[in-house]
Amino acid sequence: MGELVLTNGKIYVERGAFAQAVYAQDGEIRAVGSNEEVLKAAGSAAKVIDLKGKTVIPGLNDSHLHLLNYGMSYARADIIGVTSIEEMIERVRKFVAERPEESRNGILSKGWNQDLFTGEKRMPNRYDLDRISTEVPVVMVRICGHLAAANSRAIELLGLDKQMIEVSGGTIETDENGVPNGIFAENAMNLVTDLIPRFTIEDTKRLFLKAADYAVAHGITSVQSNDIGNTSTSMEEIFQMMHEIYDEGLCKLRYRHQVCITDLETFKKYIESGEFKNGKYKDPRRLALGPLKLFKDGSLGGRTAALRKEYADDPGNFGVECISKEEMDEFCRIADENGIQVVTHVIGDRAIADVMESYEKVLRDGKNPLRHGLIHCQITDRQMLEKAAKDDILISYQPIFLDYDMHIVLDRCGKELGSTSYAFHTADKLGIHVSYGTDCPVEGCNPFPNLYSAVTRKDQKGWPEGGFFPEECVDICEAIDAYTIESAYQEFSEDFKGRIKEGYLADMVVLDRDIFTCDPMEIKDILPDMTIIGGEIVYLSQEDSH
Ligand SMILES: [Zn+2]
Repeated sequence: MGELVLTNGKIYVERGAFAQAVYAQDGEIRAVGSNEEVLKAAGSAAKVIDLKGKTVIPGLNDSHLHLLNYGMSYARADIIGVTSIEEMIERVRKFVAERPEESRNGILSKGWNQDLFTGEKRMPNRYDLDRISTEVPVVMVRICGHLAAANSRAIELLGLDKQMIEVSGGTIETDENGVPNGIFAENAMNLVTDLIPRFTIEDTKRLFLKAADYAVAHGITSVQSNDIGNTSTSMEEIFQMMHEIYDEGLCKLRYRHQVCITDLETFKKYIESGEFKNGKYKDPRRLALGPLKLFKDGSLGGRTAALRKEYADDPGNFGVECISKEEMDEFCRIADENGIQVVTHVIGDRAIADVMESYEKVLRDGKNPLRHGLIHCQITDRQMLEKAAKDDILISYQPIFLDYDMHIVLDRCGKELGSTSYAFHTADKLGIHVSYGTDCPVEGCNPFPNLYSAVTRKDQKGWPEGGFFPEECVDICEAIDAYTIESAYQEFSEDFKGRIKEGYLADMVVLDRDIFTCDPMEIKDILPDMTIIGGEIVYLSQEDSH
């Protein structure tokens, strides 16, 4: 295998420590130090690249996203960021006109958010979507993925125009006459999304690889991706597809499954399955089986995050609980018995507190050896974070969520609770293992706007000037460490991944400017010049390839 030497760089080793050069051989880092030291260690066959002073950081590792969903979004009309129902309808109509083959048997998109509407801030209903089509089902999922609007044809196909049904853990909203208005929330959402024809496996593969290319071009070298249970493609099909992709060497990006399961029966079946039992994972440093992923609550934007106090802007509403405490306990008990890590989507403070209680029941001597974690963990107070620290419970944050949430969290939860939420710095100071991810495609998977959010706590337009509760800003080293070594910790690979050190995997990103000294406002605009995975250059920017 190839040998690679990078010289004349500013190579981030750890807080306060930089090296000039690095030598990689057989996928691993063999030497880090001065040009002289490193060149002496390298073989004469090594390819040497002069970085001319460029900054290098370890390859970034997104600790929670949905990469396949992101890929699939290329084949759907883009409705993210629409500022009115009208604009959403126009965008979808245009997509349908341009790509009728993608829309022949149904139309699905994801990304609207009524809080971003500039005029009337209501959710779209069936009659709005009837303006896209009355012939085929039209389903428009809210950005949070917890709620969807469907057209009249979808309602008719489900027979809901004749008879209403109850869905446990979900809501089918009705108007004053008891007729469905087109809004389907939480567990009821699948009823309508299931009406849309699925992608073929070949399409799915192509779209996944497209998304992986995008991630690598933006400095991502590892993902912890929840694709199982998150699309209409079945668990078996996705497992099989990922094996094929990696067996055939089609993808360099390192991938760890987060397996989303919503009921205990499926979980038990999964544990009995060959996938789990006989370890088909030949090279787990490339493709690995990861944790069970659970959902405890909804989203703050949709007012379905589970809160302890009612929503400040929606009295009487405490949010939604996707699974009960008893079920959560049972999931954790079975996971513990089988040595399975658990990570849970928790946004509201009630969801976080309840899930921590379930985790606490399976701690061993007060420790958390399976590294159970909280994904999102947005609405918190000091006490909750202290408890997470004491129980050694991990947190996977998405700092970029602040970009939108800082505009609504005080309305939803009040100032006091808002001030202790998204507490990135406090969590670090308490010694919690904090990793970063994007939850893409809720946000893009480009890590640089995400690092910018963590460091500045400003939105992408630079608001507010001083940052949103700036005492929770982290410095750039904290942010990079969360995105690298701490993301590796979440996947039990901190001994060989996430640092530019001898014996570690040679995953590195050469940046187009110095992230440590540039104006923090510029961090969001940084692009990689080069991405290296396992000592192999897998991405080179146009400029550098000339
Ligand atoms: Zn997610």
